[in-house]
Amino acid sequence: MKEFQLIEHYFRNKGLKRRDVELSIGDDCALVNPADNKSLAISCDTLVENVHFLADIPAHALGYKSLAVNLSDLAAMGAEPAWFTLALTLPDVDQPWLAHFSEGLFEIAEYYGIALIGGDTTRGPRSISITINGQVPKGTALTRDGAKIGDWVYVTGTLGDSALGLDILRGVKTVNTEDKEYLINRHYYPTPRVLAGQALRTLATSAIDLSDGLMSDIGHILTASKVGAVIDVNQIPLSNSIKANLSHEDALSYALTGGEDYELLFTVPESQRGAIDTALIHAGVKFVKIGQISAGDKLKLVENGLEFNPISRGFVHF
Ligand code: ADP
Ligand code: MG
Repeated sequence: MKEFQLIEHYFRNKGLKRRDVELSIGDDCALVNPADNKSLAISCDTLVENVHFLADIPAHALGYKSLAVNLSDLAAMGAEPAWFTLALTLPDVDQPWLAHFSEGLFEIAEYYGIALIGGDTTRGPRSISITINGQVPKGTALTRDGAKIGDWVYVTGTLGDSALGLDILRGVKTVNTEDKEYLINRHYYPTPRVLAGQALRTLATSAIDLSDGLMSDIGHILTASKVGAVIDVNQIPLSNSIKANLSHEDALSYALTGGEDYELLFTVPESQRGAIDTALIHAGVKFVKIGQISAGDKLKLVENGLEFNPISRGFVHF
């Protein structure tokens, strides 16, 4: 199978059509018509085999996850997904693999209303690079630099599941059979909080998606906003599956330092606390207050009023 046949078969005319796409896959460039009153939000993420994903990841999950992690960046800015390009590097043309990859990719693409408009296909060690484009009403994008002293810190969903799922797959942790599938799925199929991000646009003062772990990612907000934070580790949301299989300390360690949750962390002024309750319930996502922005530049973890030091898991992003 030649490159153009591969594109034709697995990527062209798949997924949904958007009226703002004037010309899609097939020419030297795609042509899109962004809305007048909106800014473009553009981000790129590359996943490399044996660096960002295990070689035996199911192709369907890889297709899904490659787009999910990019959608998560749009979510963190409050942007609406619009178009993406796909640079695919593959060691060989494995048709069943491509079919499953394409299925996973378009499953999530259709769900979030985003269209594949182009890409590049090359031979080499397996990697997937997606450039995603979203739109956000001018002047309303969520950024990392707006957190103010006194703002409340919130997160969506539950934390640590994905990192535990990865450790199960790597064979360094074992869990009950009834929790195993849930945890592995949280690693393979992260849920980008796209609607939540849009709902937070006018309410949150800053936001970030959690890709490297809570402690590391909140640091980006603190640095950009020139503030500190106090986080109460007992407020950190943990799934029943993580609680059922790990000690409290171990679970907190996954939640604080484990990567790839793709949940949102955001800051909200006291005046908007009631409004975010309504907004996020409509977005269909659980969220919880875990702390408060403080003066200074330090992240302080507390448990029952005392300073908390997380145990190190020696997390290696394999
Ligand atoms: P060029 O040589 O001009 O870069 P290509 O032959 O690489 O063009 O690609 C032909 C068309 O197919 C282009 O419109 C390109 O955007 C699209 N394309 C190539 N690879 C992919 C892919 N993996 N997914 C989606 N579109 C692709
Ligand atoms: Mg090319």
